[in-house]
Amino acid sequence: RTVIVLFTRDLRVHDNPALAAACANAERVVPLFVLDPHLRAFSPNRSRFLHQCLADLRASLRARGADLVVREGDPVAETVRLAGEVEADGIALAQDVSGYARRREGRLARECERHRISLRLFPGTTVVPPGEVRPAGGQGHYKVFSPYHRAWESAKWRDEVATPARILLPDDLAAGRLPALPGGESPQAVAGGETEGLRRLKAWLRQLGPYDDLHDDLAADGTSRLSAYLRFGCLSPLTVANAAREVDGAGPAAFVRQLGWRDFYYQVTHAFPTISTEAYRKAGDTDWRGDPDALAHWQDGLTGVPVVDAGMRQLRAEGWMHNRARLITASFLTKHLGLDWRDGLKWFFRWLNDGDVANNSGNWQWVAGTGNDTKPYRRFNPIRQAERFDHDGVYVRRYVPELASIAGKAVHQPWRLPDTVRARLDYPGPLESHRDEAVWLRP
Ligand code: FAD
Repeated sequence: RTVIVLFTRDLRVHDNPALAAACANAERVVPLFVLDPHLRAFSPNRSRFLHQCLADLRASLRARGADLVVREGDPVAETVRLAGEVEADGIALAQDVSGYARRREGRLARECERHRISLRLFPGTTVVPPGEVRPAGGQGHYKVFSPYHRAWESAKWRDEVATPARILLPDDLAAGRLPALPGGESPQAVAGGETEGLRRLKAWLRQLGPYDDLHDDLAADGTSRLSAYLRFGCLSPLTVANAAREVDGAGPAAFVRQLGWRDFYYQVTHAFPTISTEAYRKAGDTDWRGDPDALAHWQDGLTGVPVVDAGMRQLRAEGWMHNRARLITASFLTKHLGLDWRDGLKWFFRWLNDGDVANNSGNWQWVAGTGNDTKPYRRFNPIRQAERFDHDGVYVRRYVPELASIAGKAVHQPWRLPDTVRARLDYPGPLESHRDEAVWLRP
């Protein structure tokens, strides 16, 4: 038997159920990645990260006697073509949730049927596969996080699978060259790959003790920064969750809970695949206004509200933004400027190394009040948020150098500084807000 393992966003050899099953059941295994030009266009940062993942995966497969076959084009057509070339009788694939990925799975299933090739889908993209825990009655999906989280925590998680020691490729198979590494846009972005992800996970397990206290502190930078490795499957979310569960304390428990949020949005997306374009809760999706100038100020980190600008500049510099800053900047765009959440989502999606349909859309909709929030009318006051989560202004000064000379928390409201000081700052006054600006300019 010959089986093709089609890698998509499970770019690892550890705890990879599709790869492990193929190696257990077939004499010859063909690891394949197809570069889809459609997905390539989205984000230079993620293209770069992806290429680093592929190089690392190829090295790991070579160390096991195999290789990574790389093709470019439509993933379905290329996979079926290769199946013909190597006379494969099976294809193994990790199951995914986005609308695009589901349509791809559907097309592949139809082609496999036509060519009499067996297609098997495997878990591994989440800790608990979407649909495996359901609300009482067994129908539908969870719409609210807390009951989902309780069911998720007590569910029986699958057993991790072993990394194959040796993988036998068919003879005379041309693996193909990896395309040249594209340039990312963010100079301080992390490098992709399973090896780097596992190294960072190991280091993080020694640091996550105070996570519960520090994860909201903008300046402390006390989160794992593992999101991009989870996004591309360089790390198995189950491996990460199991490893953290083995550490005692409130910090590890709070961290595992965040992985529960990830699974939560995956099961929402599985049930509602148009989540990136369509409001989940129609009633919340009302009168967004179009204002290209305000949008450009927000994108460029020039709103004149320091904590918002710091977040937006961190995004560009690192291809990542602290979760608290994502909440503040997204709330500012939707609830203060009154701009459409889809515009914010697209900008994040262009820059984030961890940019992911389920998490990006689920969180944007949560903030905009169109999603899975039980308090859809909440809005974050950026000044209060800044004073609470960047108490001394360290985060703002790190990313907004124009304000580096302003000490302490005064940095959060430069419009209150004496005129003589303000005149020397090369920093804009606050952008006029669409909705009552008094709310956030209030001392
Ligand atoms: P940690 O705090 O160390 O958390 C561990 C892991 O849990 C993360 O790596 C992530 O996989 C998961 N996680 C944490 N918080 C959330 C959350 N709120 N929702 C879902 N999963 C979570 N996360 C993405 O992975 N991709 C996105 O495209 C994305 N877009 C977002 C957009 C907005 C507007 C907001 C408010 C949040 C978004 N998030 C997104 C969630 C969160 O901000 C990031 O996962 C987190 O900041 C990543 O940093 P970390 O790995 O250090 O997180």
